[in-house]
Amino acid sequence: MTHVGNVRDNHELRFTRALVIGTGFSGLGMGIELQKLGVDFLILEKANEVGGTWRDNIYDGIACDIPSHLYSLSGREQKGGWSHLWSPGAEIQEYLMDVTKRHNLRRNIRFGQEVVRAQWNDQEARWHVFTKTGEEYVTQFLISGAGALHIPMVPDIKGHETFRGAAFHTAQWDPSVDLTGKRVAVIGTGASAIQVVPSIVDRVAELHLYQRTPAWVMPRVNLEFPGWTRWILDHIPGPKRVLRDSIFWIHEFVGYAMTRRQRFLVIAKWLGESNIKKHITDPELQRQLTPSYSAGCKRILNSSAYYPAIANPKTTLITDGIDHIVPEGIVTRDGTLNEVDVIVYSTGFHVTDSYTYVTIEGENGESLGKRWDKKGVQAHRGVSVANMPNLFFLLGPNTGLGHNSVVFMIESQIHHISQLIQTVDDNGAEGIAPTWEAQNRYNKKLQEDLKHTIWNTGGCKSWYVDKFGNNTTLWSKTAWRYWRSLKRLRHSEFQLY
Ligand code: NAP
Repeated sequence: MTHVGNVRDNHELRFTRALVIGTGFSGLGMGIELQKLGVDFLILEKANEVGGTWRDNIYDGIACDIPSHLYSLSGREQKGGWSHLWSPGAEIQEYLMDVTKRHNLRRNIRFGQEVVRAQWNDQEARWHVFTKTGEEYVTQFLISGAGALHIPMVPDIKGHETFRGAAFHTAQWDPSVDLTGKRVAVIGTGASAIQVVPSIVDRVAELHLYQRTPAWVMPRVNLEFPGWTRWILDHIPGPKRVLRDSIFWIHEFVGYAMTRRQRFLVIAKWLGESNIKKHITDPELQRQLTPSYSAGCKRILNSSAYYPAIANPKTTLITDGIDHIVPEGIVTRDGTLNEVDVIVYSTGFHVTDSYTYVTIEGENGESLGKRWDKKGVQAHRGVSVANMPNLFFLLGPNTGLGHNSVVFMIESQIHHISQLIQTVDDNGAEGIAPTWEAQNRYNKKLQEDLKHTIWNTGGCKSWYVDKFGNNTTLWSKTAWRYWRSLKRLRHSEFQLY
């Protein structure tokens, strides 16, 4: 059992065998697996509720852009009774709270515990993990379920602190700010913005949309499931399974096109162009909204409401580029001042920092942050790291997807981590880490494969690619191939401690 142990520097040490960071899909899924394994564990959560992404992102219009029937944990945790094909964020949050309750996970979760540092002790073969509030945990296995998209990126635009109205990031949405009748600026036109824009346009007085790069946006029809269909999909395994599998394999086809047969992406280009033409009549606006890079290079988005919202007379698309912000609003590079009451930053997340926000020191006190800063973020099969024994990432480097559900990736990794823990126990060892040889070989091949994908060849600048020109964010093949690569543990790739 987890217990409070000896006292050091006036604080108690808390011992556990496995420590998980975060209570999103990753942390909760890992907790369920650790319960099955009979491994004593704690989950540290910086906030006061479970849910991760789906707790934090409460902006207007929030929904998952992967169909819901694929976007839940598998097996007994699979939910079929979703309200829509693309269900609202609040429903996903409700699902995660249900999962927490069903597995009685709250007794293992410590809320308000933000991890800031983790240090491997070579002699003890244990991680010492420190939180912002000064707690110290000692654990054999340290598993990060923090993911890559949890630190909002608010651009450092000159004068932004002088703005006199409300200003917030989509992931820090302030529901107390009533947008009704206000002049609202939305900066960014990515995955979050295309959900926010249509959902606020009707009630604002003016909507100023600042676009740096247009996105490819596919049309979509969001089905609402009547009660009886929801019941069938929730209670009868056959239809639930068929629907889930069909959605999975349709998305895998897109992944295959992005990684192996880019010529198929012409279908996405055609759909994107027709979505624009259907709703936008002004040829200049059509031109501004049409991306100059290949479909798939940045995340392909889906909405049939986005372009009608841009066509709304209340909306102005601004492509001049932002120069600075003044108390009254935003000044573009041509010197025009656009006065607004509220600024919404829909500008994405810090990606590399999301992996290194915890200071991690492994064998011989080596800093993982410094290693990654010098050479780029890199892990073995996206999960474990050489010379960092018993440190495992969920949705770590190169395991994001541009085409399918990341919950599937998380579950593949949970299975892999489970095998790593069992290997340590079966061998009477204390720790496990990949060999440098295996990690280097894996990453060399991965980067080779990525060179031929749409993310590297599509002619766009995206956050998938780091300062060294390497894509350290996405997996290089279909999700199924990743699952297959983790199905069976390759013992020769690891060393025991
Ligand atoms: P995003 O897709 O990266 O979009 C950020 C937008 O902000 C881009 O249009 C970017 O322009 C713009 N931008 C950034 N800095 C700017 C600046 N200084 N000035 C002007 N524009 C600026 O971010 P996001 O919408 O937060 O989505 C991030 C990721 O979260 C997505 O890719 C997806 O993986 C996930 N997400 C998922 C869902 C879902 O439904 N499952 C929903 C939302 C988000 P450039 O393109 O020129 O860089």
